[in-house]
Amino acid sequence: MSLETLCQICESAPAAYQCRRCGALVCPAHYDEETGLCTDCAAAVP
Ligand SMILES: [Zn+2]
Ligand SMILES: [Zn+2]
Repeated sequence: MSLETLCQICESAPAAYQCRRCGALVCPAHYDEETGLCTDCAAAVP
């Protein structure tokens, strides 16, 4: 077992950020630092 939390979007990279909208833990590739959102939420917000 790994102690690292995996990105909830790709489930292959360690999560380094938390989306401020849905709370998902995501890796840098799936996080938008400008908005503080995961890529799922960033795509849903104008
Ligand atoms: Zn990811
Ligand atoms: Zn999100």
